[in-house]
Amino acid sequence: MKTLEGRIALITGIANENSIAYGVARSLKARGAQLVVTYVNDRTLDFIKPLLPDLDPALLLKCDVADDASLDATFAAITDKFGKLDIALHSIAFAQKDDLHGRVVDTSREGFMQAMDISCHSFVRIAHRAEPLMKDGGTLITMSYYGAEKVVPNYGVMGPVKAALESTTRYLANELGPKKIRVHAVSPGPVQTRAASGIREFGLLIENSIQHAPLRELIDIDDVGEATAFLCEDGAKRITGSVFYVDGGINIVS
Ligand code: NAD
Repeated sequence: MKTLEGRIALITGIANENSIAYGVARSLKARGAQLVVTYVNDRTLDFIKPLLPDLDPALLLKCDVADDASLDATFAAITDKFGKLDIALHSIAFAQKDDLHGRVVDTSREGFMQAMDISCHSFVRIAHRAEPLMKDGGTLITMSYYGAEKVVPNYGVMGPVKAALESTTRYLANELGPKKIRVHAVSPGPVQTRAASGIREFGLLIENSIQHAPLRELIDIDDVGEATAFLCEDGAKRITGSVFYVDGGINIVS
């Protein structure tokens, strides 16, 4: 059923066919949403070109969330073409290798702030620009990880950053709820993506999920896509502010 027919969805974070954002974009598209697909730079465009026929985006825009002018141009293009926005996906994370691989206690001020800016505050910047376009309500989704909640080996500076992102999700949900704008953090289990390849011994997290997750199997980007699409549907219209785990249940295991 085309439960998202007529909805306009902004997609950030597609780097290649393994990206979680690609899974989400496919699920939204399958439900009838029209996509605004963004990519961070020209190099990324080469990787995502083969995916475009599948997604058939109504708009394809370069958008670097570190650059306010770039974000402004993205929202100006959405305003010009549609005059509204229903869904915004924030599927973005970045930390310098040294900060990701080192101890949190050694993180530089600049490295910590950059990771926080691109991986967390950019969600606020997107929400701020989306709010006036979500006149009939809408859904804002970001991607978090269990390292926000508990110490996960080798997750480094991204742990505190994701904790801030989850808290930000709750505050945004509370502030935007009266306008029927719902805000969620989806928390996937480990998926082998480009961002994940920056995490040391990522294979151990994969192994741990296969062996100890209650469902005893890995999740994939389509699982995240389907769960995220559900959160955007009218059936989820009274759900907001959640950290929604798509992880085979590993978060409940000590
Ligand atoms: P990915 O590398 O495919 O996606 C990360 C995206 O961030 C890329 O598309 C990259 O271009 C984008 N990005 C980085 N800096 C940017 C900037 N300045 N402006 C715009 N875009 C920028 O990896 P992924 O695993 O799909 O990551 C997506 C999200 O999912 C991240 O927030 C990540 O932390 C989260 N996540 C991943 C996993 C996992 O195991 N892969 C698990 C839980 C959460």
